[in-house]
Amino acid sequence: MLLKIPWVDRSKCKRESECKAAAVCKQKAFEVQPPSEEEPGLARDCPLVDLERCKQCGECEKACPEHAVKMV
Ligand code: SF4
Repeated sequence: MLLKIPWVDRSKCKRESECKAAAVCKQKAFEVQPPSEEEPGLARDCPLVDLERCKQCGECEKACPEHAVKMV
């Protein structure tokens, strides 16, 4: 079975510091970037996914309200 991995669509990601996809990931595989000095509540960049930790459960894809996480 071909395992899918989470991909973050930068064109849709809102860079929220309180990333909902990161919040549901039981493996703590989402690395939310440090907060932006200029933009309160936002991170400097989109989250990175640590594929070593990821268990391909797909919960992050369901959790992102912007549909910016895709299992590919
Ligand atoms: S697929 Fe599951 S384990 Fe992997 S980053 Fe998403 S929520 Fe975390």
